[in-house]
Parts: sequence; C-alpha cells; structure tokens
Amino acid sequence: MPPSVLRKLPSWLTLSPWFVMLCALLLSAFVVGVGLRNASRESAFTAKLTLEKGSALISTLEGALRTGMGFQWGDDVLQDLLEKIGAQPDIVTLAITDHSGKILMDSNPALAGTSMVSAAQLATLKPSSVAQWHERILPDGTRLFQVYKEFTVSRFERGRHGSGRHGHGFHRPRNALCNMLGAETDADAQWLIFVDYSLAPLDEAKGVDARHTLIISAVLVFLGIVGALTLFLVRGYRQSRQVVQETTAFSSEVINTLPVGIIATDADNRITSINPVACAITGLSPTEATNGTLCTLLPSVWAVLSPRLTRGVSVVEQESRCAFASNRRVPLALSASRITTEDGQVVGNAIIMRDLGEIRRLQTELRRQDRLVALGNMAAGIAHEIRNPLSAIKGLARFFQESNPADGEEARMAKIMTQEVLRLDKVVGDLLDFARPDTLHQIHIPLDEILGRAHRMVQQDMETRHIRFVLNIPTPAPLAWFDPDRMTQVLLNLFLNALQAMADGGTLTVTAQEDDNDLILKIQDTGCGILPEKVQDIFSPYFTTKASGTGLGLSIVHKIVEAHDGDIEVQSSPEGTTFILRMRKG
Ligand code: ADP
Repeated sequence: MPPSVLRKLPSWLTLSPWFVMLCALLLSAFVVGVGLRNASRESAFTAKLTLEKGSALISTLEGALRTGMGFQWGDDVLQDLLEKIGAQPDIVTLAITDHSGKILMDSNPALAGTSMVSAAQLATLKPSSVAQWHERILPDGTRLFQVYKEFTVSRFERGRHGSGRHGHGFHRPRNALCNMLGAETDADAQWLIFVDYSLAPLDEAKGVDARHTLIISAVLVFLGIVGALTLFLVRGYRQSRQVVQETTAFSSEVINTLPVGIIATDADNRITSINPVACAITGLSPTEATNGTLCTLLPSVWAVLSPRLTRGVSVVEQESRCAFASNRRVPLALSASRITTEDGQVVGNAIIMRDLGEIRRLQTELRRQDRLVALGNMAAGIAHEIRNPLSAIKGLARFFQESNPADGEEARMAKIMTQEVLRLDKVVGDLLDFARPDTLHQIHIPLDEILGRAHRMVQQDMETRHIRFVLNIPTPAPLAWFDPDRMTQVLLNLFLNALQAMADGGTLTVTAQEDDNDLILKIQDTGCGILPEKVQDIFSPYFTTKASGTGLGLSIVHKIVEAHDGDIEVQSSPEGTTFILRMRKG
C-alpha cells in the first residue's frame, strides 16, 4: 500500500487505544455518579412532596375531626370519612391511633384494634405537632412512606365545641368525640394520625433511572472497548502494512541493484516481475515482459530451462548462448528454481541469469596477454641472436654490390640481398619493440608535436600515394602525459596501416577531442576496411593479411596504449577504418 493511503486515515485513529478506553471508563463513571446524584435528589424531592401532601391531608383530617366534635359525628361518619380519604389511589392506609400506637380507627376497618407501631418504634419516631415521615417496612417486606403527626384536642376545645352549638354542657361533646376515638381520660386527648403512601411508584421511577444510567454506562464502556479494539486493530494493520512495505522496499531494492538478471514467473510461467539487469540482457521492457509468458517472450531461455523445470527439478548455472531480439546472442549462465509455499504448492519460478560476455572477453584478453608475454620473451632472445649475423650479411651484400658493375647480375643479386636483409632487420626491430619492457618516460607534451613527428615520417609516402591528410584538433593543442617516442610509434604504425589500406589514394583524418580527463583520438582512413570476422584478430601478434607484413604493428600499438593506461578500439566498414584511442591526459 502506498504510504499516502496510510496518511489519509482520520487523525482520531492515531489515538492510543488505552487512552480511548480510559476516557470511556471515566465517562461512564461520571454518568453513574450523575445518575446516583440525580436519584438521591429526586428521592429527597419526592419525600418532601409526599411529606407535604401527607401533612396537608392530616391537617384536613384534623379539621374534620374538630368539626366532627362539634357536630357529634358518630363512629360510622368518621369511619366513612377515613375510608373515603384512604381510597385515594396513592394512599395505602389512613389510621388514627392512641398514644401507644394502637389503631383506633383505620381506612381499612379490619385493622382497628391492631398495633400500628410498637412502643419502642414510637419512642424513636418521636411524634409531635409537626408532620414527620419515616420509611415503614411491613412484615411482608413492603416499604411504605409513612407520614405521622400528633393530634391533640384540649379540654377547652372540647368544651367550646360542646357548649357552642348544641348547648348540652361540657360532657356530652367530650364523650362523643372521645368515645368516637376511644379516649377515656379528662386530660388533653392525644392521638396520632398515620398516612401510609406506597413507595412503589418512587421505587419504580428510581429503578427506571438506575436502569437508564446503567444502560448509558454500559453503552459507553462498550463503545470504549469497541473503539479501543478498533484502534488496536488499526494499529496492528498499520504496523503489518509498514512491515510489508519495508520488506517489499528492501527486497525490490536488493533485486533491482543485484548485478544479475532476475525474472519471476507465476505457476503458468507468465512473467510477473523482471529486474533492470534482466531487462538489459533480454532487451525486454518491464511492460513488455509482464504481458507474456517465458515460452513466448524468451523462447531460447525457455528451451534451456523447460526440460528440467517441467519435471520440477531446479536448474543450476547452466551455460548457454541465448538468442534475443535483433539476432543478439548473449552467453548466459542460467539458474532456475520453483517457488513453493509452506504447504508445498508451486506458485511460480525464479530465474537468475548472468551475462557471461564480459567474463568471456576478460578470459580471452587474459589468454592473449599470456601469449604475448611468452612470445615477447622468446622474440627478444631470437632477435638478439639474429641481429648480429644480419649486420654482417648486410655489410657483405653492400661490398658485393659496390665491387661489381652496377648493371650486372651480381649487383642486382647483391641489391636483393640487401633489401631482404633490411626487411629481416625490420622484422627483428619490430620483435624487439614488441618485447621491449613497458617502462615509459612520460612527459607533458602538446599533442600536435607528436602528431607532427609521425606525420613527417610518412609525408613523402602520402604524397606518392595521393593521400590527403586532414587534422582536426583543438587550438591550442591539448597537453597529454605521453612517452613521446612510444606514442610517435603508435601513430606511425596506425598511419602506415592506413596508407597501405588506401592503395588508390584517399583521405587520412586525425581528430582529437577532450572528454573530462581523457583525450580521444580518432585516426580515420577511407581504405579497404577490415572484414568483420577478422576484426577480433587484428591486435593479435603475427596476424597479417599482407604479403610482406609482420603482423606486429597493431600488437605494438595495443601494448603501448595499454601501458599509457588507455584503450583502443576499431570500427571498420568497406568504406574505411577508424581507430579510436581514449588516452588519459594527466
Ligand atoms: P601488418 O601491418 O604487418 O600486417 P598489423 O598488426 O599492423 O600488421 O596489422 C594487422 C592487420 O590488420 C593487417 O594485416 C591488416 O589486415 C589489418 N589492418 C590494420 N590496419 C588497417 C587499416 N587501416 N585498414 C585495413 N586493414 C587494416
């Protein structure tokens, strides 16, 4: 995956999963806290409301009782009143008890005579003229909100009521109310009024609140866990992608920089990837390569590999000359092996190819160098032995030539003898040049000076053969770090070969140009050219196509150029030959 895709992820996905989890836990703890606080506030509020409601109800009942005293209500009227008030939906019980907690009258008549509260409880409740509440728990576990208040009727009140309306004296109303409520003494009559409200709606509301709070908290915790897990997954995914990316980048870097050609195919031998070296060897572009099979695109490679690959056997360094586009034949070392998965399934082939061209060239060059060294040593010995007798023969031939008439047969023979001795002397001279050690005496010398020396040596010959000399060198002439004598010999040998190749006249062009620290010299003739199959041999000693050639001229040139740490190459066609020298300037 390209890194840009990773970068496009929303920023929250980069948060730490632990942080998200902690936030969710804190948030749910907060929600629970707020829920509990609300619940307790709501309870207090509901208790206050219910207490006020109970208190109002008790006050109303008190008023009714006092009125009842005046009107001398009977038990049935009072009972009826209690039942009617107690029938309100949220009231469980409405009861009047004596000061010991015994129920005198109850909205549920069946409870009359039973005990509303024990004496111990009553001591804790401390009833007074102010309405109070407590939570009453019935034997069956039912919780009730009980409002209670003391109800006192003074003697005076009883008297007032009794004498006011009916005018029957003090005792009658007292008796009527007290009888009605069961008070027997003359002391201030004291009763307790209890109203029980059901706690079920409040409990239910609390339960709903608690459930909501719990659900919200659970949802938050769940979201936190899901978020954290998502972030863990995203992180894991990102990390795996990164590992894959790094591994891919590393392997493609390795594959692209390896100095060998690598081709990967799928199980059907379709090329899936190819590295730059393999492209250079096969001449295929990556797009061309990944559009076809090994068999159709590289038949010569497939011909070498297929016999073993189709049998599932690896190929190890098999050497072959493989043909590629435009009849290019490249010596290759081919290796191939099947790519298999852990469970043994074949998913393709990996092919490695090494271009042996350079190695072959170096091997040939090495062999040539070895031959040259052996030959040089031998030549030096032979040349030494031959030169002394040759100068004696030359002296004698001159003597015969001079001591005989110039137009006689003896003189002609002596002349031929002298010419042959001179030719032999040149051969020996070439041999000695060739065998001479590579020690150079280099100096900084202008190029035109060396070119001038070589040119002067062949100038006469050029004129005789009608050959034009063209010089293209920069002005001022470049300086080079040459051994003047040996470089003059290089140019002389090349000029002489060019002259001999242009039997019917022509043009010899010398061009020089600078390239960084190199000096490139081109010696171009318009001669007969060199046959393509001979080109590779011309630098070998004793290779000649001339009747009187020694075949040492270009070997000497090659040796001197190499000693100067330079290169020489040749380009030839039937229109002419060009020798290109790349020499170091400094
Ligand atoms: P020689 O000149 O004695 O034959 P060289 O080593 O100088 O030996 O050259 C080897 C051979 O290379 C020549 O015989 C000739 O066939 C070929 N050759 C060299 N230079 C040229 C050239 N300028 N044009 C054509 N052939 C050439």
